Amino acid sequence: MKFKILTLFPEMFPGPINHSITGKALRKKKFQLEAINIRDFSINKAKTVDDTPFGGGAGMIMKPEILQNALTFAKKGFKKNCKILSLSPSGKKITQNFIKNLVSSKEIILICGRYEGIDQRFIDYNEIEEISVGDYVLSGGEIASFILIDACVRLIPEVLGNSKSLSSESFHDYLLEYSQYTKPSIWNKLKVPEVLLTGNHKKISDWRLNNSLEKTKKIRPDLYKLFVKEKKRKL
Ligand code: SAH
Repeated sequence: MKFKILTLFPEMFPGPINHSITGKALRKKKFQLEAINIRDFSINKAKTVDDTPFGGGAGMIMKPEILQNALTFAKKGFKKNCKILSLSPSGKKITQNFIKNLVSSKEIILICGRYEGIDQRFIDYNEIEEISVGDYVLSGGEIASFILIDACVRLIPEVLGNSKSLSSESFHDYLLEYSQYTKPSIWNKLKVPEVLLTGNHKKISDWRLNNSLEKTKKIRPDLYKLFVKEKKRKL
C-alpha cells in the first residue's frame, strides 16, 4: 500500500506510525508514506491556504484551488482509480469492514483538513469520499489519518506476528473480543476464570464465545443486533 497525505503539517508524519508494529512494517517497506505540504501549492507570497467563509461565521476555510493543485501533484505516479479520501467529522464513520475493504487499494490519497474545514466544491468536484473516525471533532485530519493508516497496516499480510489473532479480534463477525487475562492467576484476590486454566480447548473456546456475546450485548447492543441479523442471514 502507498499512502500520500495532503497536510499543512507534513512534519507530523510518520509520527506514531514509525513505532512498534507499524514502524517495523514501514522499515520493511510493507507500505509507504509520503506527506505532501499543502502550503507548497499556495500561489501568493504570504503562502496563505485559507480564507473567511462566505455567509460569515467563525474560523477559516481551506481554499479549493490550492487543494486542487496539491491533489494534482499527489496523483502523479498513482493510477487514475486510486482511492481519494478526505478526513472529516461529517464523513461516513469508518468501521473495521471499511478498513478490510480499503486494504485491497494499492494507492490511497488522504486529505487532512484544518481550521473549520475544506471548501465543499473541492470535495464535490473531485467526488471525494469523506470519512470520519468518530462522532467528535478533532482540530485536524492528521490524527484521524494516523488512525486510518494504523488500522490498515496491521491487516497487511505478515505485519502482525500472529495473523490468527485477527480472527478473534473485536469487530470480527460484529463481536467484541472476549476478555483476556495473563499471569498471575490471582491478583488483588481476583481470580482468572477457572475454565481458562483447564487447558480444555473446547471449553475455553465456548467460554470465549459466550463472553464475547455477553460483552457485545451489554456494551454495544447496536453491534449485537448486526451479529444476530448476520447469523440469521447465514442460516
Ligand atoms: N467545522 C468542522 C470541523 C473542522 S475540524 C465541522 O464542524 O464539521 C478540522 C479538521 O479536522 C477537519 O477538516 C477534518 O479534517 C479533521 N477532523 C476533525 N474531526 C474529525 C473526525 N471525527 N474524523 C475525521 N477527521 C476529523
